[in-house]
Parts: sequence; C-alpha cells; structure tokens
Amino acid sequence: MQKDSVLLGFDVGGTKLGIGLGTSSGRILSGWRMPNVNTRPEEVLPRIAAEAERMVKEQKLEMSDVAAFGISAPFPADARRGIMLEPPNNPLWRNVPILEYLSDALRIPGTFENDANSAALAEWYFGAGRGCENMIYLTMSTGIGGGIISSGRLVRGGAALSAGEVGHICVQVGGRKCSCGQEGCYEAYAGGRAVALRMREELSGKPESLIMRLAGGDPEKVDMIVLEKAVRAGDPYALALWDEIALRNAQAMGTLINLLNPEKIILGTMAWAIGELYTDPIRKYLPRFCWKEPREACDIVGSGLRREISSFAGIAAALNYLNERENPSGRDENV
Ligand SMILES: [Zn+2]
Repeated sequence: MQKDSVLLGFDVGGTKLGIGLGTSSGRILSGWRMPNVNTRPEEVLPRIAAEAERMVKEQKLEMSDVAAFGISAPFPADARRGIMLEPPNNPLWRNVPILEYLSDALRIPGTFENDANSAALAEWYFGAGRGCENMIYLTMSTGIGGGIISSGRLVRGGAALSAGEVGHICVQVGGRKCSCGQEGCYEAYAGGRAVALRMREELSGKPESLIMRLAGGDPEKVDMIVLEKAVRAGDPYALALWDEIALRNAQAMGTLINLLNPEKIILGTMAWAIGELYTDPIRKYLPRFCWKEPREACDIVGSGLRREISSFAGIAAALNYLNERENPSGRDENV
C-alpha cells in the first residue's frame, strides 16, 4: 500500500466488542466499545454497522473513503465465508454471517480473520514484528492461540484455514485433557485456564498452601496472578509448576523454531504482564528443543502493542486483505 488508507476494524470478543477506525500507517483515529455478554447478533450487527457509520462521519469522511474493513473473531468459524459458528462465551451467536452482513451494510470490501491471526497481523504491521519476514505470535492468555507469518505471508492452511493452532500441538502422549477434546495439548500445560484448573485440582483440601492462602481460600480465585505471586515468594509447589510450564513453553517454541526459523516469537498477555520471570526460564530450556543456529537467530519478545492489540487487530486484518489482493500469489512477479 503506497498511500495512507483509512481502514475499519471490528474486534468481536467473548466479553467485549470493539470498533477501531485507523490508517494503514497505524494511526488510530477513533475507537468504540460495547460489552458483548449474552447479546443477540440480530441486535448487535445493526448497532455496530451504525456505530461504524457514525465514526466515519465524525472524522468528516464518507464510508467510500474507507478502503476496507476487517473482522477479528474467534474460532470456530467458517473463515472463508466469514460465518461465526459457535463462538465460546456467546451462546446466542450461532451461524452468524457477519462478513456478509457488514459488507452489505457498509458497502465496502472486507475480510474475516480469526482472532489469533488478526493479532499476529497487528504485531507484524504495527507492533514488535515490524520488518520481520518470519514471525510467530502466541496469545499466551486463558488459552494459547497462534498466528504465523512465514516468508512475508500469513499462513492460513487449507480447507479449514486452521493453520497456526499452536496451542493444540500435542506435547505429551496421553497427557492432560485439553478443552478441545485431545490429550496432551500444549495449551493444557501452559494456557492460563488449564493451569488454574490444575492448581485447583492439586490443591483441593490443602487450605494451608501458599497459593490457596493468597487466593483467600477461594479455589475460584486461584489463577496465574496468584501463581506468579507464589513463585516470587519462593513457594516450592509454585516453583515446580512454574518450571514445568517453562519446559512446556520451551518444548512448543523450540518445535516452532526448528519448523519455521522465525526472526521473532512474540508473546501476548502473560509474557508482557509477568516479564522476565516468565521468559527467562523458557530461554534456559530452549536448547533442549531446537538447533543452535535458528535459536540464536530468533528473539523471544513480549507484545509491542500489549493491551492495545485488540484496537489494531481488525485494522491489521483489513490492511493485510488489501495487500494480499494487490499481490495474490505472494511471490515477487519480477522473479
Ligand atoms: Zn487442545
């Protein structure tokens, strides 16, 4: 893209829905948010279309000045047709053709991208991944989502467009049960929700443990934040669990490094919120899982956009859509 195009981004989350109006150079012109708990799509879709119109007008622009829109939304979805199938946390959203609806309502071209891919695109265009040809973004939140940029393209895969589901690589045969139904997934060892469930299981009936005390005796309050506090306090159970999480992170990231030889692995939520206490032990274990050359060529860094990443996700998906439309083969046509 040569000129600074205006883009609209829709970030459809399980608890919040956001709209961002921004530019291809990463300037956010305006943003808007609403809670998205127990909402009905037949009410939400007209509302977000109207809000988008209002935001564009407020900038003294017409909708025809907006080059494209991008929707960042969770799987499971029919990403090709832009249909949200059964998003987690939104029981009333079933088979919602959000891409078609917004295309008709806004009368501009648009695209649908899963949320982890959109976040990877956001870091690639506007965050810590700028200038990379090969990078991987891992969400490191309640679950572990992934987005892969390889040889300067987003990797989507084939029929299911499900490439990048790094959290569901099996790291332990017959291992811990994952929310996806498989056993031994990476997410089952290092995802925030899975770690919290594991601590609740292992510490039930142990009110004297530091983690239970830090949670005020309420198992529901046992989470990664409590675990981090217990690690910093030197609690032996917390330290052992922390070490195992680091080992599993290194196993998964080392596999990705050998597979894709990325310049950067960019880590979301937990990594930037916790800092070196989280990333240093991963680096310590990495030599067990990947070769020296690609390891030394890869930086493991926290998200550059941090909390702002959702504001950029849909906009980055829109920008990538325009770039792919301009260069559909992904190859330099002069070669
Ligand atoms: Zn899984």
